[in-house]
Parts: sequence; C-alpha cells; structure tokens
Amino acid sequence: MKISHIEHIGIAVPDLAKAIDYYENVLGLKCYKQEVVEDQKVTTAFIKVGDVKIELLEATSPDSTIAKFIEKNGGRGGMHHIAFAVEDGVDNALAEVEEKGVKLIDKAPRKGADGLQIAFLHPKSTEAVLTELCEDPSGKGC
Ligand code: ZN
Repeated sequence: MKISHIEHIGIAVPDLAKAIDYYENVLGLKCYKQEVVEDQKVTTAFIKVGDVKIELLEATSPDSTIAKFIEKNGGRGGMHHIAFAVEDGVDNALAEVEEKGVKLIDKAPRKGADGLQIAFLHPKSTEAVLTELCEDPSGKGC
C-alpha cells in the first residue's frame, strides 16, 4: 500500500454551525463545502488547511455513529478519525491490511463525502485511532 498524504482529519461536532464559526472567525480558515452523507447519517463541512482538510461531522440522526461518539464523549465533540489517501486502490489496501491481521470496519470500499472511495479500519487494530483509507476514483487525486 502506498499512502501519499493525510487527506483529512475528521472531527465530530455537536453543533456544526458553531464549529464552522470557530474555524472561520477564530482561526481565519474557510469552509468551502457542506455535504450530507446519507450512508453515514452525517452532515460534513470541509475546511482546507494547506493540503490537508478538516472534515467536521455533525450527526443527522441519533443512531449515527457520530451521535454515539459524542454521547460517549459526554456530549462533546472531538477528534474522530484520521484519513490517509492511498494511491493504488482502497480495495487493494484493505486486502493488504486484512492479511496483516487488521480488523476492518468496511470489508469493501464505499462512497464517502467529496466523491471519494473510503473504508474504515477498526481502532482495535490501529493503535486506538479510527483510521480511514480513501482514494479519489476519478484519479485526479484527493
Ligand atoms: Zn473522513
């Protein structure tokens, strides 16, 4: 597997508007896109910091994994996952790490925000950090 860069850092937030306000008005960054990802029951907002994005995640439903994460975290948001861009196919990367004994959350790539192919690895196998592998299927790179 070849990882080219950190594609984004996922941060769970209980209140997306409030979080965007912080990133824009305190840190002076710009939120360039919001997108609902039905599959994951979240609204995402993207902020670019150099080549890396911050992906803010707000639950759209109480049974969203983000809602459960925030509940477990005492109602607060926090860092949720790190996403690495892979260059030779998320499916190939999954097969490789599974062979190395990594527990997978997604056995096959699925569609994530921003048109990316994504898959999550289980934090039990990734030094306790929920890890996402992603690739832009259009080939223009993410
Ligand atoms: Zn993500």
